[in-house]
Amino acid sequence: MDFAEAQKEALGCTKCGLCNSRTRVVFGEGPLNAELFLVGEAPGFNEDKEGRPFQGASGMLLDRLLDSLELGRNEVYLTTLVKCRPPGAAPRPPRPSEVSSCRPYLMAQLAAVEPKVIMAMGDLASRVLTGRKEAVSRIRGRAIPLDGRYVVPTLSLSQALYTPAERALVLSDFARLPELLAAERPQSYETLNIPQPIAEPEPLQPGLW
Ligand code: SF4
Repeated sequence: MDFAEAQKEALGCTKCGLCNSRTRVVFGEGPLNAELFLVGEAPGFNEDKEGRPFQGASGMLLDRLLDSLELGRNEVYLTTLVKCRPPGAAPRPPRPSEVSSCRPYLMAQLAAVEPKVIMAMGDLASRVLTGRKEAVSRIRGRAIPLDGRYVVPTLSLSQALYTPAERALVLSDFARLPELLAAERPQSYETLNIPQPIAEPEPLQPGLW
């Protein structure tokens, strides 16, 4: 499925139960030549209302983080693992089956954008995009080479919003991005600037990529 087909299909998608809890599909947005690709977990209340990713207080924090790198929102591709808001006032994380149903849209976005750096925001995005079982708190800030891209796990913006210590960690993870964006694409499975070798990971879902 190419990008245009994915976008068209997603906007009317009923492939998983999240179609019942959404107001609007939040497909994602950004330039298709972006080198930085940010992936959150799922749309929240504000995103569902606006139909755009990273709105409200989380969006304002993201804008400040991007500002710190002298990057504008319009230079980055922004999306989420699932494109529809989970139900409830305090929405639950998406279920594995929902992430799996939505995966073709994310894959089409990645194939179209071909970013150099993917920032996986939050525990679920980190596990899905790196294929690792470790909690994001253990591997955050590392640049994990996968398929010619660096995947950088970090904490979710909602964690960063309410806890200054976690906000500082997210800020330090963002501070690594200029170095990675300036680096050559990784050619092999090796880690960049990681002090200690990481044990060979057990894939969370073999063949996810
Ligand atoms: S979350 Fe994804 S797979 Fe599920 S209904 Fe929405 S667009 Fe379709």
